[in-house]
Amino acid sequence: MKRKSEFKEQCSNCEQGYRVVEEIQISREKRKFECEECGHLIKKWNGSVDYIFYKI
Ligand SMILES: [Zn+2]
Repeated sequence: MKRKSEFKEQCSNCEQGYRVVEEIQISREKRKFECEECGHLIKKWNGSVDYIFYKI
């Protein structure tokens, strides 16, 4: 069963808010998310969790 949780993240550069959904995934991949507005790096992760960002 998949566990899902949600939290909020804000770009520290332009203050754009994002709703972030955390999902357990099977494959281990290095990923990152950059702000859609200004390109600032918001999050980097690596492992069995994936994050999906939605602009608020
Ligand atoms: Zn930004």
